[in-house]
Formats: sequence, structure tokens, C-alpha cells
Amino acid sequence: MAPQENLNPHSEAHLNGPLFQNALLTFKEAAKIVNCDPNIVERLERPRRCITVSVPVRMDDQSVKVFTGYRVQYNATLGPYKGGIRFHQNVDLPEVVGLAALMTFKNSVLGLPLGGAKGGVCVDPTKLSRAEKQSLTRRYTSEIAHFIGPTKDIPAPDVGTDAQTMAWFMDTYSQEQGGYAQPGVVTGKPVEIGGSLGRNHATGLGVIYICERAMEQKGMKMSGSRVAVQGFGNVGSFAAKFAYDRGARIIAVSDVTGGYFNGDGLNVNDMVEYAKINKSLKGYTKAELITNEQLLELDCDALLPCALEGQIDTHNAERIKAKVIVEGANGPITNAATKILHQRGVFIAPDVIANGGGVIVSYFEWVQDIMSFFWDESDIDNKLKTVILKAFDTVCHFQAEKKVDMRSAAMAVSIQRLEKAMLLRGLYPR
Ligand code: GLU
Repeated sequence: MAPQENLNPHSEAHLNGPLFQNALLTFKEAAKIVNCDPNIVERLERPRRCITVSVPVRMDDQSVKVFTGYRVQYNATLGPYKGGIRFHQNVDLPEVVGLAALMTFKNSVLGLPLGGAKGGVCVDPTKLSRAEKQSLTRRYTSEIAHFIGPTKDIPAPDVGTDAQTMAWFMDTYSQEQGGYAQPGVVTGKPVEIGGSLGRNHATGLGVIYICERAMEQKGMKMSGSRVAVQGFGNVGSFAAKFAYDRGARIIAVSDVTGGYFNGDGLNVNDMVEYAKINKSLKGYTKAELITNEQLLELDCDALLPCALEGQIDTHNAERIKAKVIVEGANGPITNAATKILHQRGVFIAPDVIANGGGVIVSYFEWVQDIMSFFWDESDIDNKLKTVILKAFDTVCHFQAEKKVDMRSAAMAVSIQRLEKAMLLRGLYPR
């Protein structure tokens, strides 16, 4: 997914990753569309603070292994930093910078009072025992503890982390603050310790709210449509299930072990159960095996890429047959591929809105923690729907008016809000 040129005038290596460079391409185009103040463009082109830490862990065999962790705080104009923590073997600083930038633009376009950040540790969590994962999480938390807090920077789950990881995170932070429970330091926690109802399925549900709305605009209906879902983790599995519950035919899903296809429709509930027991879809026999690449190119109505970044680029964009693509993952389609798909009339619901359900309900969780007053699940699902569709409709309106692609439109709306706030706050010290 290499962009055509290095767009960043600041040549440090951590700013040259493909994900960040792609985000910058979209950013620069959108900044022009809305005639953004050049001083604001200059400031938004780079992260405010990048923290790199060593995370030593005593492994079960008593040896000590040192992992590298990151927290990138991109921008805090609109509120405290907010964004998830990724445990994955491909995590590096350039990737985290790109993800932190996307969080900034996401929180802005969604209208949340939050800045943008992201964290991660370079580790394959599937190779760790539970005890090793707990030690890693606790030491990583401790290493970045000075920089985070309920009013400073509020992490959350991402690829490779879950509610249990957040519980260890919250406990470690609280112990280091004298043992007083600090639920507001992290979201995506189990409900028993201050988590929010509806947070676990929020990203997947948001993807489906957006998919339904996008299909409506294309004169299509979710019920009876053919849907392919890449990724069967926290986002993809719930997205598949919510689409299935609404009558869609889920013709394929995939995880790291490959793709699973059935033209007549898969039984998603059965697959969710299977993945729970077996930890992956490996060995699932009630489907034809395909590759992740083949899944992306299937003839379908809606494609939901819910895995990792850089999945659709100029190599496969021409072969994509879906009419609607809803980006459950962060950065699954490159800027150049977006242009090709847009020209071919494919409707793309961009990541910063489409997968915003997670951080929207994270915001609700943080608010509930601060108030110590908790809402019903139906309230949360409905509030999520209101917030995410409001942002989507605003972007669609902008897109129709300016005749640009949806990714540029979402970025443009996001930049306008950030620009106004940055101009109002001014530059410190002058
Ligand atoms: N990791 C999720 C994302 O990429 C959620 C972030 C959050 O809840 O703070 O949006």
C-alpha cells in the first residue's frame, strides 16, 4: 500500500509509514477543499507526542523478554486523548502514528469531545499464556502511567486486546494511584468494574447501522442482500451477526486462518459458537475454503473489511465487485484505491465514521464512569445510532454538495471542526 510520494515535509522515519502517509494524502486533499488555514494544516500534519517504552516480562519459563510498546498522543484540541491499544506482531511506531492520526480525525468527525491517540505493543498475543499477557499489560500500563488518566488520555481495546486486558489496565493504574478505583482511565472494561453495557458489540453494531443507511442510499435493502465480512474478531463477528439477524445472506467470513464461503449463506450463529470454542475458524467444515484475497473480490452487495489496514490497494481495487464497502477496520483501503473505487461507482463508508461505534460507546462509558450512573443497553444502542447516523448524514450532505469521494468528505468535515477549535484556543504561548 505504498503511496506515490512521501508527503511529509518532516522526514523522521516514524512519520513515513504507509498508513500515516495515506491518511496525510486524504488530509491534504480535504484541507484544500475546505480552504483550511495553512498554520492549522502545518500543526495537524504531525503527532504532538510519541512515547516509546521497553516492557520487560518474566515469561512462564522464568526467562525475561523485553517487548517494545508505544503510545502516540496525536492531538488534544477537542478533549482528552482517546484511542485503543493494539497487541500485534506488526505494531511499530509508524503504524501507531497512523492509527493515532485516524483516531483524531474520527473523534472530530463523530462530534465527540475527545482528542486522538493510539497505543500498541509489538507482540503476538496468541503466543502468550494468560499470565504472560497479564504481566505484559500491567508493565506496559505502568510504563505509560504518567501520561494517561481519566482527564488526560483514556485507552481502550483494539486488535489483540479485550475487556480482560482493560480490567488489568484499570487495576494497575488504580493500584499505582494509591489503590483507589479509577474506572475512568480506560474504556471497554467488563461491566462489573465500570464498563458499559453495549460496548462489546458497539463497533460491529455501528458498522451495520452505517451499512443499512448506505444501502438505503443506493436503493438496496439489508434483508436478502449478499454480504462478505473480512475479519471475525470483535468487529467482524458482531457485524456479521447483526447483518445476519437483519436477514442478510452472509456469503463469506474470514479470520487469520483463511476465508469460509457458502453462496447460499453461512450460519453465523454456528460460526460464532465454533470460533468461541476453537479460538479461530480453523477446521470449520460447513463452508468452502477460500483465501482472504478471494473474499475481498467476491460478487456481493456489501463488503465489510473488518480486519487490518492496507487490504485493498491499487493491485486489487479493479477486481472488487461489491456495491457498498463499509470499513469496519482502520485504513483497510488506500487513498489511491479509494479513487479507483469511487470512479467505478462503489460507495465507501469510510473508517472514521463506519467503525466509530466503538469509540462512541467508549465515550458513553467514560461519561457513565465520571457520573457513576449507568444506562440501559437499549438506551446505549439508541444513543449510538443517533450519534453515528448524524455524523454519517452530515458527511453525505457535504459529499453531495462538493461532489468528492466519501473519504475526502469525512476528512473535510473533521478538519473543519478541528480548525475552528484550534483557532479559538490559539497557539501557546503566542
Ligand atoms: N480501538 C477502537 C478504534 O479504533 C476504539 C477506540 C476507543 O474506544 O477509544 O476506534
